[in-house]
Amino acid sequence: RTTQRIDKILAHIGYGSRNDIKIMVKQGFIKVNSVIVKDRGLHVDPYKDSIEVNGERVEYKEFIYLMLHKPPGVVSATEDKREATVLDLIDSKDSVFELFPVGRLDKDTEGLLLLTNDGKLAHSLLSPRRHVPKTYEALVDGDVGPDDVLQFAAGVTLDDGYKTLPGELVVHSQEHGDRVISKISLTIHEGKFHQVKRMFEAVGKKVIYLKRVQMGQLNLDPTLEIGTYRELTPEELSLLV
Ligand code: URA
Repeated sequence: RTTQRIDKILAHIGYGSRNDIKIMVKQGFIKVNSVIVKDRGLHVDPYKDSIEVNGERVEYKEFIYLMLHKPPGVVSATEDKREATVLDLIDSKDSVFELFPVGRLDKDTEGLLLLTNDGKLAHSLLSPRRHVPKTYEALVDGDVGPDDVLQFAAGVTLDDGYKTLPGELVVHSQEHGDRVISKISLTIHEGKFHQVKRMFEAVGKKVIYLKRVQMGQLNLDPTLEIGTYRELTPEELSLLV
């Protein structure tokens, strides 16, 4: 492994700007392997050397992987002029990493959204060639039945003429009120714009609630409250790579 400047390391994990760290060094707040750092350009191996700030041992990481239970009403972007974004839900201690969402959920869609600063992993998960499956639960206005299951399994043609890959549709239950509402899950292997909604439109039905529950082998933690997030466990991360 390679070494990096101590000021760069500490800035990366959120101890302030390089200038803030310069001041901390001057004040003698920073130790490496129990020795007070005099030179903010000191080269350190962040994984091997012991770094302390103000007497507290610092844990270094280059990449961070967060599972967010996205609520409706926020957009899957890093910035937006008008709308709240998923990054507005991230604590300041984590937002020092240059996080971005891995793919997109619509503003009104809920559920599993991964946020990371690891461009390689994001790229690989989003690669059209890899066909990473994504599973959604939805409420659909209309009587979703065996015909739809067959059509989805064959691939449906969207409004722009694109024929989707096969999708696995399961109808869980139906509510019979004024209209029939079907509770379904659908697994797709690609990610066209508004794909789930447009697949149902292609069979004359309307998605009225949509939640992503799985991406690749990674499941949305059912105990993770809507609007909150946590770091992936090492086991969860290993499911994605
Ligand atoms: N399909 C959609 O239509 N919307 C989403 O947010 C995700 C998949």
